[in-house]
Amino acid sequence: MVCPKCGSRDVRISPSGKYVCNSCGYSWQMPMADLGWARRIFNIEKLYEEFKDVRPIDCARMKGEMVKRGASEGDAAKIVRRIARRAIRMTNDKNEREALAAIIDGC
Ligand SMILES: [Zn+2]
Repeated sequence: MVCPKCGSRDVRISPSGKYVCNSCGYSWQMPMADLGWARRIFNIEKLYEEFKDVRPIDCARMKGEMVKRGASEGDAAKIVRRIARRAIRMTNDKNEREALAAIIDGC
């Protein structure tokens, strides 16, 4: 996505479904075709931020919470796996890493 005003590629999506240029601040409505996709991506990022520090990581419980907040089963599983992968990077404990790897496999 390129800003129509300044040509910058540093463009983000606002919660209300607009594109916003991070360089010049210009915002414009995204095409309808992109809206569903953008909402989905936005929701995935929001849920990831919200749940990334929740412990213990419990696939079924966390997925249930995310589905309640509008994520699909598949997206929720992806988010939990991403959170578990992050937790693996943050620990040096071998047992904990194995437990997290098992969660990623089963989620
Ligand atoms: Zn711009």
